[in-house]
Amino acid sequence: MLRLNHVSAQYNMLDEYVKAVDHVDFEVRKNEIFGIAGESGCGKSTLLKVMYDLIAYPLEISEGSVELHSTDKQGKTTVYTNGEIHKSWWKVISYVPQGAMHVMNPVTKIKSQFFDAISKYHDKKSKKELEAEIAGYLKELELSPEVLNAYPHQLSGGMRQRVLIALATFLHPDIVLADEPTTALDVVVQRGILTMLSKVQKKMKNSMVIVSHDMGVHYQITNRMGIMYAGQMIEVGPTEQIFNNPQHPYTKMLINALPKVGDNSQKEGIPGTPPSLKNPPAGCRFAARCPLAEDICRTQEPAQFNVGEDHYASCHLLNDWIVEGKRHGA
Ligand code: SF4
Ligand code: MG
Repeated sequence: MLRLNHVSAQYNMLDEYVKAVDHVDFEVRKNEIFGIAGESGCGKSTLLKVMYDLIAYPLEISEGSVELHSTDKQGKTTVYTNGEIHKSWWKVISYVPQGAMHVMNPVTKIKSQFFDAISKYHDKKSKKELEAEIAGYLKELELSPEVLNAYPHQLSGGMRQRVLIALATFLHPDIVLADEPTTALDVVVQRGILTMLSKVQKKMKNSMVIVSHDMGVHYQITNRMGIMYAGQMIEVGPTEQIFNNPQHPYTKMLINALPKVGDNSQKEGIPGTPPSLKNPPAGCRFAARCPLAEDICRTQEPAQFNVGEDHYASCHLLNDWIVEGKRHGA
């Protein structure tokens, strides 16, 4: 469906590069919700832009490729690579950017925002027909068609987010990318947005990618997920395995820091801060914060290891050869 092959992306600043995404490999499959988690500043949003082909100076892809495979009703497959994916926006791939407040044009009614985005795919329909169709779709998503006549500021934050999701899914794209769809909303509204996303996904049987720093979001709606740290994807696996059987020390710490039912003890965050992406350290990027770090961690970048069914993580401790070697005093 959507594949990232060893992708690196950087912000090209005056005399330095900020390497926001470093050699990332994974795929988003048909009919799944894939989550991308990690602390703020770890490259999640940049990765989503790379997937959406939203590449504009100073951001550039410095290595690797992105492939989007789309099969139409006749069974014909088209492959779009980075640099071409934007030709399939709205219809094959769509994007719900972070901050529903800021992405809508404040002086344009919601109706016109829909027309602007999708009218080129419906040029045979009259405005009236199209508006009726949009209204019908909004009703399907339990939204009042009256929002079409509103300006963005007349809607609540949660409602704006719902409208953006409706807009992004109206043409039934194969894949929908959403950046922090619930951030800055209160808990009840958050739950409503997540329910809406998962309902839409179940109905369309398409793929969704949800970026969120909130592990609770991933627990609630994703099927598989990846954990990012300092621009790298350090663990990928079924969501249930990430929560119940995490393998990378960073993921373990993230999971341990989550509040548990019936446990009121104050949870500590992970001490320390991630390294700068301008000059990332050699070796494992988590080494400065990792309680298990060894000498090799500061010099050699860990490879990715298969640690279970469909489950991968990058940490030297997961290399049986090194662990076994140590155990035998080698
Ligand atoms: Fe910790 Fe070393 Fe594993 Fe990195 S490679 S997570 S520093 S043990
Ligand atoms: Mg972000």
